[in-house]
Amino acid sequence: MARAAGTVIVVGTGLAGLRTAETLRAQGFEGRVILVGEEKYLPYERPALSKELLAGKRSAEQVMLRKPEFFEQEQIELVLGRRVEQIDAERRVALLDDGRELRWDALVIATGARARRLRGLETPAGVLYLRTLADSLALSEELARGKRLAVVGAGFIGVEAASTATALGLEVTIVEPMEAPLERVLGTEVGTLLAERYRAHGIDLRLGAGVTGFSAGEDGHVRAVRLDDGSEVACDVALVGIGAEPAGELLGVGEIATDASGRTALPDVYACGDVASTWRASLGRRVRVEHWTNAAGQAAAVARTILGEESVHDDVPFFWSDQFGLRLQHVGFASEWARVEIGGGTNAFSARYLDHDGRLLAALGANRPGEIAALRRELKANARASVERRRAPELRPALSLP
Ligand SMILES: Cc1cc2nc3c(=O)[nH]c(=O)nc-3n(C[C@H](O)[C@H](O)[C@H](O)COP(=O)(O)OP(=O)(O)OC[C@H]3O[C@@H](n4cnc5c(N)ncnc54)[C@H](O)[C@@H]3O)c2cc1C
Repeated sequence: MARAAGTVIVVGTGLAGLRTAETLRAQGFEGRVILVGEEKYLPYERPALSKELLAGKRSAEQVMLRKPEFFEQEQIELVLGRRVEQIDAERRVALLDDGRELRWDALVIATGARARRLRGLETPAGVLYLRTLADSLALSEELARGKRLAVVGAGFIGVEAASTATALGLEVTIVEPMEAPLERVLGTEVGTLLAERYRAHGIDLRLGAGVTGFSAGEDGHVRAVRLDDGSEVACDVALVGIGAEPAGELLGVGEIATDASGRTALPDVYACGDVASTWRASLGRRVRVEHWTNAAGQAAAVARTILGEESVHDDVPFFWSDQFGLRLQHVGFASEWARVEIGGGTNAFSARYLDHDGRLLAALGANRPGEIAALRRELKANARASVERRRAPELRPALSLP
């Protein structure tokens, strides 16, 4: 697209949306940039929602990524509190929920993900989810009123919220159907090590336990979580943290498949961040990751590609998590591995996830910041060795597109 003219519409005011818009400007794009978001807030730091904001260490204003004047200076048009309901790829038009139609020359879908809902169970007042700033503020209020928190799901968000609530003085129970916390991403061995630490911090950790429902008091507010062994966990507030679902509904899908530069199957329509499943030559497959650094990197690559500088984000995946006095740092990507080597104890350890040939696929450091750079280099070298053999498959448009 020409740098001097044209309109780029970015749907979603999360990190990926913001980073796309600001990179377009930083690269000298002079046309219109319109950032549309269904949340009423300016783009903010989502990771703070389970950490500093929930802990009361930072205010809502302090988690904003940019000040209001930034958008004026950069001439980024903000449309907040409005949802893009539909897109018409042939007419190149985005239809907003107030009936407005916006025309684009390039469209970027940065709609992220939403908290997965518990299906088939009635949830009384006081049963909450945590994905948005509004969710975090609502949870803060409930934590201030209550003494006992029940967390359903020992994933990253549930565990971080549990850690914050414990530091605030609440009694916390975590209910998890698997054998260990964070098992899906970190495996049983590391999960078991972490379970020890959570228990040492006073968490009542119920593993291998399913939730069958919630009980409410006469006021209609949650009073207990019912488990499949017939027991109940008494609580004043419950947080459901059972993962996130990509918000790709504008293309009639969940996750949106893209090439290495963020192009979808539709001309001049791109996707990046949590919603995108992007081709990574280093891994030889498309992956969708819900990581802050990935959203930032992909968005910058999409902005450059729109302006004609073909660009790819294929860094070694990285995320961090703060919980119970541990800074976890994870590098690489492994959905399965042959074995895990763990060194250290519950206060500081590292874990190496290896394939059958002993090759490093991913690694985790817990309070071991000094090791991460070397692990990243090792993973990068492994990826380079195999990258040449891999080619991206063709993209096919989703069947339900208008
Ligand atoms: C509580 C929490 C803690 C986290 N902590 C960490 C961490 O410690 N480390 C880490 O690496 N990652 C962390 N993450 C993940 C990280 O925040 C995400 O990977 C990142 O925010 C993804 O950015 P995104 O812009 O792709 O999506 P999002 O941040 O989800 O933003 C998408 C935006 O698009 C909007 N939207 C969706 N559909 C539409 C539509 N049709 N019209 C208009 N707007 C729309 C949504 O409302 C949302 O505002 C955390 C996430 C959460 C929820």
